[in-house]
Amino acid sequence: MTATAAESAESAGTAESPESAESTGPIVRLDNVRKEFGDTTALDRVTLHIRQGEAVAVMGPSGCGKSTLLNLVAGLDRPSSGQVVVHGEDLGALNETGLALFRRRRIGMIFQFFNLIDDLPALDNVALAAQLSGVPAGQARRRALELLGELGIADRKNTYPQQLSGGERQRVAVARALMNRPALLLADEPTGALDSRSGEQVMDLLIDLNQLGQTLLMVTHDPRLAARCASRLVEVADGRIVAERAVERTA
Ligand code: ADP
Ligand code: MG
Repeated sequence: MTATAAESAESAGTAESPESAESTGPIVRLDNVRKEFGDTTALDRVTLHIRQGEAVAVMGPSGCGKSTLLNLVAGLDRPSSGQVVVHGEDLGALNETGLALFRRRRIGMIFQFFNLIDDLPALDNVALAAQLSGVPAGQARRRALELLGELGIADRKNTYPQQLSGGERQRVAVARALMNRPALLLADEPTGALDSRSGEQVMDLLIDLNQLGQTLLMVTHDPRLAARCASRLVEVADGRIVAERAVERTA
């Protein structure tokens, strides 16, 4: 293939099977992104493009900027300079309401410590995500129950987070993240607070989701998680991307 053909194939997204205008080209595009917090430069000259269907693992030591990168892609934070485009939306051009809508519609996010609402049973923790987007309660609860079933925890639907194991909590959090059928699933150290067995179950879940077509961007300390789940590894050090490589999954 000539360079020009490669470029136009890339820009037309012909490597994928585009279903909508948004799915052509990379689903995530960070271009020359810099993020400062006061005197701290958390990210510097970061350029990263992610295609639909990829599973990208970001690795690197504590404090190197991994969560900052994820938060920029989630629209939870704004770059000091450079551009962040996700699912065709230039996040820098959105106001706070626009960003909130973007997150609700396009992004599912899971965190190390689950971030579930303690006062709500599992089912309502999951259903709430859709209800906030205006889906009627009954419909939201039906989908939530379906997702809990797919994740193997339907029998825990009435259980409050405190009574769930870590692995169960993370599966509830995954169900919640999937509730609005996000274009992109973001995971920040998703197995960081789990014992190795539940960590592996959550890994397997992420692999399954990616194999069903879910685009995944995750941050991890754990090289095994990265090797099992990711199709591409991105290594960050001191706010810079220092290495990138495609991986053959070991799973
Ligand atoms: P990682 O997730 O890789 O551990 P972070 O992205 O959380 O790293 O942090 C990168 C750098 O930015 C660190 O030096 C951290 O202290 C700093 N930082 C992150 N978030 C903030 C913030 N909200 N305010 C000030 N400094 C921050
Ligand atoms: Mg972090």
